[in-house]
Amino acid sequence: MTGKMNWGGVRDRDRIARQGADSVASIGLPGGTTPPKKPPGKAALRAELAAAQRKITRTIKCVCGHEGTAIVPASKARARLRCSKCGEVAA
Ligand SMILES: [Zn+2]
Repeated sequence: MTGKMNWGGVRDRDRIARQGADSVASIGLPGGTTPPKKPPGKAALRAELAAAQRKITRTIKCVCGHEGTAIVPASKARARLRCSKCGEVAA
C-alpha cells in the first residue's frame, strides 16, 4: 500500500458503524437552509399505532341467509370475507 492512511476517515467509519450516524432530517442541512424536521413524539407514535391496531365490528350478510359479526382490524374494514356456512364471498 502506498501513500498515507487516512486514519481520521477510518476512525469516522468505525465510529459510524459502532454508534450510527445522525439523520440529516434531525440536524438540517449546513447553512440552515432547511429547518430541521421534528421527529414525531411518543404520543403521536402511540396514536398512530392505536389507529393501526383499532378493531372494528362488521356485520356480514350472506346470500344464503347467514348473518354474522366479525371483529377485524380497521385496515380490513372493506375486505371481502367468506361466509362460514356456505363458503361464498359475502358483502
Ligand atoms: Zn353463506
